Amino acid sequence: MPAQFISLLDDFLSLIYPRLCYACGNSLYFNESVICNRCLATLPLTNSHLSKDNPVARAFWGRIPIEGAAARYYFRKGGPVQRLLHNLKYNHAPEIGIFIGQIYGKELLQGEAFRSVDLIIPIPLHLEKLKKRGYNQSAMFGQGLSQSMKIPIDEDSLYRTYYTDTQTRKSREERWENVKFVFTLKENADLEGKHILLVDDVITTGSTIEACANKLMEKKGVRISVAAIAFPSSTF
Ligand SMILES: [Zn+2]
Repeated sequence: MPAQFISLLDDFLSLIYPRLCYACGNSLYFNESVICNRCLATLPLTNSHLSKDNPVARAFWGRIPIEGAAARYYFRKGGPVQRLLHNLKYNHAPEIGIFIGQIYGKELLQGEAFRSVDLIIPIPLHLEKLKKRGYNQSAMFGQGLSQSMKIPIDEDSLYRTYYTDTQTRKSREERWENVKFVFTLKENADLEGKHILLVDDVITTGSTIEACANKLMEKKGVRISVAAIAFPSSTF
């Protein structure tokens, strides 16, 4: 089938088929978007933004100094939150990141640690990957946070220098080796003395965040907080 025809067919089908919730796959009502109200009410919240000593923060203990660390949801393999993350990353649905960021930003401001954040920096994607995917899923989440927290987002100062292989099926040490030297700061990056909120779609081993934080902390007086969409419920 010619590509143009497939694209036309896609447009046509999206007119007759209803929009679906990216978490459960059920049809959305006209007043819902991205995630249905039922999922919004039932997906497992961590409430980690309300306490300094929480599972997300503990993942970084002894590794990097963190002001505050939080993730909105717990995720389990095969569960609706994982489906949400998968759609955000691989299914051309950047709106998922923006949507959750907009909701989560308001909640983060309830946590003391996040009120002094000056700047949001998303974990960068390598340029090749960015071109292939069309967007950086962490930056989408960061843009949503930026809107609701009314804090600027900086997508330029930190970038990824080398292409890294997919992180799956690697041990914690191997992953660390893999990301250790791949982040670089732009010359003249104006970050001194800033409290930076590093944002990622998901935190698993924390090694990517750690590598970015170490890079950012080369600037004098930088403090780091961390926010993600999801955190695994059974890791650590
Ligand atoms: Zn749903």
